[in-house]
Amino acid sequence: MAAAARAANAGMAVTIVDEGESLGGQYYRTRRLATGRGSPREFTRRFPSVRVLSETVLFDAPTSHSAAVWSQEHGAEVLSYDAVCVATGAYDRSVPVPGWTLPGVLTAGGAHTLAHGFRTGPGRRMVVAGAGPFLLPVACGLAAIGCSVELVDAASTREYLRGVRPALRNAPLLAEASWYGLQLAKHRVHLYRSGRVITRIHGEGRVESVTIQDVDSDWRGVCGTEVDVAADGVCLSFGFVPQLELPHLLGCSIRYQGESGDFAVVVDANMRTTIEAVFAAGETTGIAGVRVSRVEGQIAGLTAAFDAGVITRTRLQSEVEPLQRVARHLRVFSEWMRLAFRPRPGLWELAEPNTIVCRCEDVDLAQVDGALAANDVSLSAVKSDTRAGMGLCQGRVCGPYIVERLRETHAYRVPDGHLPWSVRPPIRRVPLSAWMQAYSEDR
Ligand SMILES: Cc1cc2nc3c(=O)[nH]c(=O)nc-3n(C[C@H](O)[C@H](O)[C@H](O)COP(=O)(O)OP(=O)(O)OC[C@H]3O[C@@H](n4cnc5c(N)ncnc54)[C@H](O)[C@@H]3O)c2cc1C
Repeated sequence: MAAAARAANAGMAVTIVDEGESLGGQYYRTRRLATGRGSPREFTRRFPSVRVLSETVLFDAPTSHSAAVWSQEHGAEVLSYDAVCVATGAYDRSVPVPGWTLPGVLTAGGAHTLAHGFRTGPGRRMVVAGAGPFLLPVACGLAAIGCSVELVDAASTREYLRGVRPALRNAPLLAEASWYGLQLAKHRVHLYRSGRVITRIHGEGRVESVTIQDVDSDWRGVCGTEVDVAADGVCLSFGFVPQLELPHLLGCSIRYQGESGDFAVVVDANMRTTIEAVFAAGETTGIAGVRVSRVEGQIAGLTAAFDAGVITRTRLQSEVEPLQRVARHLRVFSEWMRLAFRPRPGLWELAEPNTIVCRCEDVDLAQVDGALAANDVSLSAVKSDTRAGMGLCQGRVCGPYIVERLRETHAYRVPDGHLPWSVRPPIRRVPLSAWMQAYSEDR
């Protein structure tokens, strides 16, 4: 939205393609679900030169300046463009734990959407577990709809205290953190267990309890500290993984930041990727939160307008430079977050041999390890031997876990410049008729 608004104000014709019903991605969508405001119509009233294709998926990039899109209502269409800004966001990082496939276990992002948008949760007695400040809005959201909530955070209090200095330079963040603190107190989320992880989820047919264990600095369990806690719902959140299928398909260079297990599109200060006329903004350039995403979108929109010859260099500089300063300032905190709450090796050891790691194809850890023993250490070997990553989600859920597990157990080297798992169109599920319609010769 930020990129579209800036580019439209500069005089460009803009099309937004979003598979969501309302605009604004993860952050604004949950708020809109709750308030009922923010329809695509409202946006086009403010920015008449913007065409909004909501509930529409982009499923292929057939040539360097075209995108194939499809919606239930309008069918398939191939759009031509002079420039594209990729802002496909991120999804929850899943870490397999024994019992994580039981009904009642959700990613924290999913639970948050349920709580904020539909005022319901996966259970009434909830354990919210993972690492980092994102646990706070999830816990608050569930507590606000009447769930009892226990927070289990792998990060220790010491790790949070190290963030006080970068946070002090960021007033809105401090205000947000204080607000969440007040909400937790108001809703009596008083069971806050830091430096601990869920090591097992128990239940017959659905969640009944969890085992929680203290962890060391590598987030490995400390023997003898296990405690069982009754629960009928669990949210797991170990951060987010950028959604990079589209930039990968477009040929953009992707970097891997091994210390935090993160992939991100390579961009310059103007959000240009390594491919001409392709820009990226938001979580695709590295997980950093909504404020950074918004500023990056604005920079991308303005730069696209400049590259297309719609605005002058003077205007670009006068508008983009202040935004770049804000982005640099905000990135200090997000960099601290990235490293402070990076997943640690203990997480890759939580799954047991019979724990399912690829949910789509029902592949367990023993099968993955068996494929590695018999083959080269590569994701393709695991995939072709076990079918892990070949299902509906195309490796989005199991891919990042298997990469980290391989790094940990087999010194796997992540390739440079692109995602280690293959990406092929369609990058979103579409009916065969959409494919035929988009590529028929008499289109
Ligand atoms: C539940 C939740 C709560 C959060 N709370 C906070 C918070 O309190 N503070 C904070 O700073 N950050 C928060 N975040 C993070 C924040 O939402 C993100 O930083 C921000 O939304 C990133 O914006 P984005 O544009 O990069 O991606 P998103 O907001 O994720 O938007 C990506 C959009 O791309 C669309 N899309 C993806 N692929 C396709 C495709 N192939 N075809 C069509 N459309 C596609 C998606 O439908 C989505 O609308 C939260 C995130 C979640 C999930």
